[in-house]
Amino acid sequence: MTGSEISERAVSYWNSSPKQAKALVRPRSTEEVQAALKICHDFGQSVITQGGMTGCVEGADSSPENVILSLERMTQIEDIDEIGGTATVQAGTVLQTFQETVQERGLYFPLDLGARGSCTIGGNAATNAGGINVIRYGMMRNLILGLEAILADGTIVSSMNHMLKNNTGYDLKQLFIGSEGTLGVITKVVVKLERQPASRVTAMTALPDFAHVTKFLGHCQKELGGMLTAFEVMWGDHYRAVTEPGWNKSPMDRSHEFYVLVECEGLDSDADSERFETVMASALEKEIIQDAVLPKSEKERRELWEVRENFEAVLQNDPALLYDVSLPIRNMSAYVEEVQQGLKKQWPQSACYVLGHIGDGNLHLFIAPNSMDADLHGRSDELVYGPLAQYGGSVSAEHGIGTEKKKWLKHSRSEVEVEIMKSVKRTFDPKGILNPGVIFDLAQ
Ligand SMILES: Cc1cc2nc3c(=O)[nH]c(=O)nc-3n(C[C@H](O)[C@H](O)[C@H](O)COP(=O)(O)OP(=O)(O)OC[C@H]3O[C@@H](n4cnc5c(N)ncnc54)[C@H](O)[C@@H]3O)c2cc1C
Repeated sequence: MTGSEISERAVSYWNSSPKQAKALVRPRSTEEVQAALKICHDFGQSVITQGGMTGCVEGADSSPENVILSLERMTQIEDIDEIGGTATVQAGTVLQTFQETVQERGLYFPLDLGARGSCTIGGNAATNAGGINVIRYGMMRNLILGLEAILADGTIVSSMNHMLKNNTGYDLKQLFIGSEGTLGVITKVVVKLERQPASRVTAMTALPDFAHVTKFLGHCQKELGGMLTAFEVMWGDHYRAVTEPGWNKSPMDRSHEFYVLVECEGLDSDADSERFETVMASALEKEIIQDAVLPKSEKERRELWEVRENFEAVLQNDPALLYDVSLPIRNMSAYVEEVQQGLKKQWPQSACYVLGHIGDGNLHLFIAPNSMDADLHGRSDELVYGPLAQYGGSVSAEHGIGTEKKKWLKHSRSEVEVEIMKSVKRTFDPKGILNPGVIFDLAQ
């Protein structure tokens, strides 16, 4: 594609401006990706790899001098091994399509995130996506057994391992996972599958303060053990914003300080529901939680998840700046208070909406400065990232660095680490044509 065919498309999920590039290529196979990359390599042409364009750090955004390589035509699920519990899937396959396909075979791919209807398996691998089930199943890295990637010069790196155990030298696939398209284009992935769980039980709960949230996490971990799949927290202000009339339906009183959506997966529908209800009841009795709503149908369960996943109401603020940080759970409350105080001092009219995959030590903040000041983003970054070091946190939990956070990389990585990353990049992509300027600038 060239010209208006490109500009008719949006930059990304987050940015509706027209997409810009010299050309957009849509290969159908590994060999076509290889051919496209060889040509670009010969000409020293920069290439931006795109999956579902839901990434949160502008890693797949293109400018007019780039060629975009889109995986949108590489959507085949090549193989499902029901005995071994693995699948081989092309990188452009949409996550939800893949989840539904394996579900028809009684299997389960546990990576799950709000962008499931658009994000791709290749994008999930390239960003090492996390999401809502990490507390039990880990991030994308934990689910990948093998992959195929094409280097900048067209070399095919086939690392299509299907086994859990394979200690034969360096595990090269790990380098591509989370490398945000800077080391190679991922064309296929071999993933681990679970058996479809027989039961899924869920509750939305309300709590008076953060100390009770951590107590509740401990209670659920102790009483529900390995069944615990999701433990998603929303600060009261976030909950109220997303359940304003006209947005999501609130299943309970909206005036609580904290809300936690908790979910378990298990093997025995009746026994699991009974156990889950007993655990929620004991949390109420012990006054760890103030209220709990348990859905009576799949529709009601989905409505609870909508409250957590549909944050359109918050995005009505212009701008609403999204952050993704991680830090030890015990430091979260103090950290959020510090950020909120800093914001109020800077912009008294600002709002800060906080939620997160708290069991993973991961918080998301939406910051609405509600101000016309210059450099809102830069100043907001200082307020969010500045205090992280003292709390032992990281500037990116699951979204990656992209171009948006590269200034902050050194906040979470030592100089030696960044230098090693750069030397790996130079080895894999000596001309620097793949996603230039993503994660770091080579020249600096
Ligand atoms: C509503 C919503 C909810 C979200 N929730 C979560 C969440 O809970 N957890 C989470 O981790 N993320 C979340 N995200 C972020 C995003 O969905 C993930 O980062 C996702 O993995 C990106 O996949 P994608 O296919 O959209 O990749 P893109 O956005 O297209 O690309 C992301 C990066 O990967 C590179 N890339 C893409 N495909 C390939 C490939 N085949 N080979 C090499 N490089 C490639 C791109 O160049 C870019 O650097 C959310 C996003 C939205 C919009």
